[in-house]
Amino acid sequence: MYLMCKVLFTIFLRFLLISQVHSLPKKKSYSEIKSCNIGNLAEEIASYDSVVRDIVDYVVSGPFKRKTYDELEKFVDMFGARISGSQVLEDSIDYMIKLTQDEDLTDIVTEELEVPHWVREQEKITMLEPRSKNIAVLGLGRSVSTPPEGVTSDVVVFSSFKEFDDAPIEYVEGKIVLFNAIYTTYGETASYRTQGAVRAAEKGAVASLVRSITPFSINSPHTGSQYYSENVTKIPTAAITLEDADLINRFYTRGEKVVLNIKMQSSFETKTSRNTLIDFKGTKNPEKLVIVSGHIDSWDVGQGAMDDGGGLFVSWAAPIILKRLNLRPKRTVRAIFWTAEELGLIGAAAYAEKHKNESHNINFIMESDEGTFAPRGLAVAGTQEARCIIAEILKLFESINASTLVETDSPGSDITVIVKDGVPGASLHNANENYFWFHHTEGDTMNVENPEELDLCTAFWTAVAYIIADISVDIPR
Ligand SMILES: [Zn+2]
Repeated sequence: MYLMCKVLFTIFLRFLLISQVHSLPKKKSYSEIKSCNIGNLAEEIASYDSVVRDIVDYVVSGPFKRKTYDELEKFVDMFGARISGSQVLEDSIDYMIKLTQDEDLTDIVTEELEVPHWVREQEKITMLEPRSKNIAVLGLGRSVSTPPEGVTSDVVVFSSFKEFDDAPIEYVEGKIVLFNAIYTTYGETASYRTQGAVRAAEKGAVASLVRSITPFSINSPHTGSQYYSENVTKIPTAAITLEDADLINRFYTRGEKVVLNIKMQSSFETKTSRNTLIDFKGTKNPEKLVIVSGHIDSWDVGQGAMDDGGGLFVSWAAPIILKRLNLRPKRTVRAIFWTAEELGLIGAAAYAEKHKNESHNINFIMESDEGTFAPRGLAVAGTQEARCIIAEILKLFESINASTLVETDSPGSDITVIVKDGVPGASLHNANENYFWFHHTEGDTMNVENPEELDLCTAFWTAVAYIIADISVDIPR
């Protein structure tokens, strides 16, 4: 009887968890939005069908076939990880400028800004009790160091902020906190990484660990950004793997004392970096911009091939393909390679500030920073009228299965700082179901990229930017 109750209770708990996941705010697909009437514009947009076919042919089976992939491969093999403030990042920026100039695109500007330079040094976590074990670790961005001998204490485990908030201060004070929240969505679960250290320090914890923000693991820790607060003690903070988080939690749940020693060293300073702007000038309204973008910096692990090498290279390719095909639109197509995205959208924020008096000239802004797997369409922020026009354009991509419009208020990462002020924009909606398996890990390498899918993304990105830059109307705000 007891066993049966226990089984039923477990099923009930699981049901609760699943229904919770499924009741998260869901993005609507375009077919669910009320129908649009954009009048004669639909006919005009339909007339771009042959241009779309030309671009897709040129990239998927013509002279540009595999070009994006081959260039991305050379780039990430040569430079590897490109952390904010590093010399290797600056060298990689110079390389991209040269690569662009070699294509006879010379309208290139770089804009300097101050960026954080956080350098990971020794990191080691050892479980001392109930048995000795090395715990795989990646410190989180900007984490402070421990003393040389490390921090040694018991672990207290919480599966949510709610559970943490309910715990008395005495329970947390002097302890190492492990936030062991099960992955639901990135947006929701990442808050344990970005805010964990501050929350734990407010209750007197000596260090804070987070279960890596991923639904899947082969014992790979995932790094990422976290933010200290001015008035709260800065404590060392790191991510551990799903496997080790589960192990620690099992001991803890059985009432066994888990003692860890955490040793982390790092340095932090400010350096100068650059955003890179490449313009393919428009014929009629060169001051009006359609921006395609990705970030050139990466975390200090892996090769930054997926995050965000793919987004960087599809944005690099767009003006080049248009130039090669002699497709010069009415408005300017600007490619931007953002710097210092990973440490907190630093490059994009600097651009927004520097260009705030011209933001009315941004007709549409696009970013690819969530993978360049098979393209499915765009996630679009803007008015209903703007979305109707974009949806009509996306119909031209039915043959490559990329005509879905997803409604969102904050597309992309960098461009959120510009879109929040009412500038219409979009991020690449793609088949990125496994994106977070590799995100911010040593596993973010060329092995994750696929040449055919990258070609489709390149063609899609280029053609969408061209049409928006060339149609007779501005995207309404
Ligand atoms: Zn990224």
